[in-house]
Order: sequence, then C-alpha cells, then structure tokens
Amino acid sequence: MNDELKISVSGIRGKYPDSINPEIVYKFGLAYGKFLKEKKVYVGRDTRLSGEVLLYSLISSLLITGKDVFLTGISPTPLIEFIVEKDRKAGGVIITASHNPSQYNGIKFLSSKGTFLNERENKKLMEIYKNEKFEIKEEPGKVFTCDKTTEFFEEIYKNVNKKEIEKSKFKVVIDVCQGVGALFTKSFLEGLGCDVKILNEKPYGVFSHDPEPKRETLKQLSFNVKKFMADIGFAQDPDGDRLAMVDEKGQIIGEEMVLALSVTNILEKKKGPVVVNLSTSSIIDDIAGKFNAKVYRTKIGEVNVVEKMKRVKSVIGGEGNGGVIFPSVHYGRDSFVGMALILEYMATKGKKISEILKDFPEYFMVKKKIPISSKKIPVLMEKLKETYRKERLNLLDGVKIIRKDGWIHIRASGTEPVLRLIIETKDREKLRLYLEEFENFCKSYDFPQK
Ligand code: MG
Repeated sequence: MNDELKISVSGIRGKYPDSINPEIVYKFGLAYGKFLKEKKVYVGRDTRLSGEVLLYSLISSLLITGKDVFLTGISPTPLIEFIVEKDRKAGGVIITASHNPSQYNGIKFLSSKGTFLNERENKKLMEIYKNEKFEIKEEPGKVFTCDKTTEFFEEIYKNVNKKEIEKSKFKVVIDVCQGVGALFTKSFLEGLGCDVKILNEKPYGVFSHDPEPKRETLKQLSFNVKKFMADIGFAQDPDGDRLAMVDEKGQIIGEEMVLALSVTNILEKKKGPVVVNLSTSSIIDDIAGKFNAKVYRTKIGEVNVVEKMKRVKSVIGGEGNGGVIFPSVHYGRDSFVGMALILEYMATKGKKISEILKDFPEYFMVKKKIPISSKKIPVLMEKLKETYRKERLNLLDGVKIIRKDGWIHIRASGTEPVLRLIIETKDREKLRLYLEEFENFCKSYDFPQK
C-alpha cells in the first residue's frame, strides 16, 4: 500500500510520520485558521499514539492565526460535531484516522454548522493550504478546556424512550478496540440502565484487531456475547462514528443492519424521507417502501448525505457502513445514537434482537478493498463504463451497475489508496457469480487483484 496523504471530503489521512506529521498538521492548522471566520475552534482527538504530537502542532498553528482553542480531549467525532452544531459560532477539528489502522492518523475539519467541509469548502481550504496564504495575528489566541459529554449523552437520552430501555436492563458487550469508546461507551450505556462488559479497553490507541467495525473483525465480540449471555454486542470504530453488532446468539449481524434497524425505528414513529449513500444496502428501500417513505441516494461521504438530508428534511439517514445520522440529536454519523436507537427498538418491541431481525429481508453483500495506484483508477472506470454501457448505470460516484437481482458498485476510496468494491445480491450464489464476473473483468484488462 502506498503512503500518500489522502485528501477528501472526510478530511486528510496518512501514515505517521511519513505522510502525516507535525509539520503538515501545522500548515493545515494555519490554513484552517485562515479559512474559518469564527474565532473559536473546538479541538479533540482519538486515542492514537501519534495524536498528542499532532495535537500540539495543531493548537500552536490555530493560536498563531488568532483562534481561541477549546480542547475537548480524547473525544468521539460525533461529540465534537454535536458541540460545534449547538455552539453555532465556532469551528471544529478532530485529529483521527477514523477506522484506519493505528499507524495512520488524519484530520477531520468541521464547518461552523458542525458538519464536515463540503466539496466547495474543502476546495477553499486546500487553496489556502497550497498557496500558503496564511495570516499570522499579532495577538495569539488562548487555550481553554471544554467538556460537554453530559449534555451530549442527555441529548441522545432525550430523543429515545429512556425509561423503556432502562426497564429492560439489557446486558451489552461492547468492543471499543482501544478507541475513544474506551472512555465514553460504558458510562453512556450504563446511563441507559445496561449491564456493560467492555472489550479491548486498554492500552488506548494500540488496536488489538483491525479497528474497522465490519463482519471480519467481530469474532471476539461474538465469542464474548455468548460467554456473558448478553442481549446484544456492539463494536465501534476508533473515533466512534461507526457501529456494528452481533445478536444474542453471537451471530454476526454486521454494520448494514445497524442503519436498517435505526431507520425502521424512526419511520415507525415519524414518516419522512430517508437519505443514504450509493453503497448502502437495498434493504433501506424495502423498509422505506413499507412506510411509503422516499429514499434519496448520494455520493459516499458523510457531508454529502448530511447536506441532502437538510435539503429534503430527512428524518433519518446515514451510511451503510454503520453510520447512523439522526438529525434530532445532530447532523453527523454517531455510534452512540445508533446504540440508543437499536436498544430502544428492542425494548419497545419486547423481543430479542435475533427475533426482530427474522422479519427483515435477507441480502448478501461483499465489500472488498483492492489496492491500486491512483493513476490506474480512471482507466479502470472508463473500461467499466464502456463494458457495461448497455446496462443500468449510476455514475454519481464511481460506477454502480444496477440489475434486477443485485448491484455492483466500484469506486476509488476517499480515505485510503484503494478501490472499493461492493456487491449486493438477493441470493448467495449470485453473489459468487458477480464477484467472479468482476475478477474476470479485472484479469482481462490486467488490473491488480487481491
Ligand atoms: Mg470513524
């Protein structure tokens, strides 16, 4: 895998110290200080070991541009989004590489709306960064500390049936993978009356397994859910915006059903449009169909989903990778919101999670990351468009081939130097055939396969 710094609508990401280091962070801090009109900036980080050295560099650069820095400490990305959204007169920066392995780090930049910078804002920030049009203020800013954890938890509790969840006294196993959840999730769930067993709590920042919450990384969680006879198991990514789960039998449910359950819960209470990204499971269309709710699909990236949600006044949305966005709390993917909505659904239905899931249609999905040089990506995309030109295509983000019995979506990742392949079908055999078809396509044009 190459180590280039990735720049996208999800911020910047790279390997420490080669492609992301104090020098680069300092320059980005100066650029953001110039970009942001507001004087106040909330700054937090995830648990990564390189987080502290990058944090001091970032603070220094923001102070030089005259910003007052409000340190939130090690914090979930959704908590900082929440703080910035409620403040309305501040920016926010989070030092995190989200679901990437521990040797990576990065920065997520927020606008004063509390959401990630959109394409236009991102372009502006990058222009300042590249042209080095920085502004050094004669009087530097000041440093403050800030803790809004209680307000954040209370806002989530307020938006679910807390009493009903408390009555259920759920036993929950949570795998925080040495990420920010290690400092927040136990108390969050205990606030909902749960009996909590936490996995991979320490040492902070040294991840015991691949920290991306997906099927392949949930085996330890599954084992422990059975061992402790828990009602459900959750897994969070290192900055706490994504969530995956296993049922009470230890069966791995994965991350796509997190959004499906959350959408069902909200639509049962309140009708309205749903917004998801192009790679999200078709199960969302089935669920929305039952409630006569419209589904909008966007490009991949939280801010793309959020901006559409605001435009269409969506009641719930998110990304199928376990990112639930519930605007009543704030406009950002939030694993804490996801846990609360799923527990609420279990509590109000009075059913075990496996029983609830029985009523949902079954889809088969495969997600693959294919390492590829960035130069080869446009060539591959062109070949795809040409080869499948007679089929139903969606070209909003990469190439999505849509068929009656499933779909294939291929796009360049914004956060890693890889191609992302997602295939979903209604039967298992079709999934194998679609995957084989894509592999044959790659072979015929001599594209790498792993
Ligand atoms: Mg994340």
